[in-house]
Amino acid sequence: MPPVRPDPSGASREARRIAEMRHGSSGTRLEADREGAGLVTRKLTAPIVPVLLRYSSASKWEDAKTEWRLNHIEWRDTEDAETCECGHHPICELCIVENEVTNTTLTIGNCCINQVSPEFEQLKRIFPAIKQGRINPAVIDYARKRNIINQWETDFLSNVWRKRTYTKNQLAKLDQIKGKIFKSIVSPARRLRT
Ligand SMILES: [Zn+2]
Repeated sequence: MPPVRPDPSGASREARRIAEMRHGSSGTRLEADREGAGLVTRKLTAPIVPVLLRYSSASKWEDAKTEWRLNHIEWRDTEDAETCECGHHPICELCIVENEVTNTTLTIGNCCINQVSPEFEQLKRIFPAIKQGRINPAVIDYARKRNIINQWETDFLSNVWRKRTYTKNQLAKLDQIKGKIFKSIVSPARRLRT
């Protein structure tokens, strides 16, 4: 007899089930899943919610969402893109989120995570700016909170990010600080290309 191939892991089965939920048209099953997750009264639009709930301590999303925090983000090159926990592939705008209650860290696509909680809403302003090489208050706040930039650099950026013209010294400093922030977010392969 040929060797029996091992079953796919529970995690990948789950990812596939959720991807099917997202793309499939089976309303009944979706409704049943909502009920199971305690979300029957809430219109569920984000496929990532049941995944996050599975790794949360609270059983209802209203409570569970407060358990999740953004750890950091990465902008990857297509070649080292990853798969979102919802099953979507490839994702290049990675959001690494953590749940301190259940001690879980997950990699989620930007498009999935920024629709589930206000905690992640600033991501809507961070990724577009980074992709255009710009700085804005959301990027400054992100970098300061993670000690990517110090207080002096934060104040400097806050003062100059909106300016249209710079002195030579300001421009050099701005480029230096921007380089530091982008290096912490943009993957090496992507940095080589852009
Ligand atoms: Zn996703």
